[in-house]
Amino acid sequence: MAKTFVIDVGKCCGCYNCQLACKDEHVDNDWTPYAKPQPDTGQFWMKIQENVCGTVPKVRMHYIPLLCQHCENAPCIPACAEGAIVRRDDGLVLIDPEKCTGCKDCMTACPYGVIYFNDELNLAQKCTGCAHLLDNGYKMPRCVEACPTDAIMFGEEEELADQIAGATVLQPEAGAKPRVYYRNVPGRFISGTVYDPVEKEVIIGAVCLLTSANHAVETFTDTYGDFWFKDLPAGKYDVTIKAEGFEGKYFSALDTAKDVNLGDIPLTKE
Ligand code: SF4
Ligand code: SF4
Repeated sequence: MAKTFVIDVGKCCGCYNCQLACKDEHVDNDWTPYAKPQPDTGQFWMKIQENVCGTVPKVRMHYIPLLCQHCENAPCIPACAEGAIVRRDDGLVLIDPEKCTGCKDCMTACPYGVIYFNDELNLAQKCTGCAHLLDNGYKMPRCVEACPTDAIMFGEEEELADQIAGATVLQPEAGAKPRVYYRNVPGRFISGTVYDPVEKEVIIGAVCLLTSANHAVETFTDTYGDFWFKDLPAGKYDVTIKAEGFEGKYFSALDTAKDVNLGDIPLTKE
């Protein structure tokens, strides 16, 4: 049995309530032996990452709440020569503030950059999973309770199996087996605006065809002349644009390593 977090990125509205609740719980509060007080500034055991994708005016935004991933194969644990970091039976990874000597080796080892240093106390610190609450009758960590959209879930892996199905983890290539799962992380997009340069008007209903080695998707420009292909895996795509009475346009090998804004696309009358 191991506790896991599941975070539904599609539900996170970027209100920062989780970040604030975490600070409210840990700043200036001494929860030894679980954690010493977090300093007033500089640490974010829960940190909202704002991801702005695309270029103006084709911009989309989403938020990734980032906390210790409470890894099953946590690289921070063997990195600590003092044996100060342990993974509990319930899966939470804790730094013992009484044993930590402030060598910072765990900070170098963690692939997620979620361990902070307390200069005043000479101590590495991070999310505790609010173990001090869970061990004293509380059901949920503060950040989970504080989320108004239920974007952050916490519980036994079996209970959250439906939410975990189809979810992803951050940096799986690091091999740490993180225990925080993320749902509905947006994929890349390709978009553009189709217009008639002679009439100086957008073209509504132009047929836009996206093709790759694996699939083909068709969409149409909307009342603003815009088209969007969303949630694309990284890869190479071709886009063909056709509208009645106009010559077509073709874009080849568009690379979705980044989001692609094709900008304003003029079509020439036949
Ligand atoms: Fe350790 Fe970093 Fe994994 Fe947390 S996210 S368990 S600090 S390696
Ligand atoms: Fe902060 Fe507790 Fe949430 Fe960890 S579980 S991010 S310590 S509120």
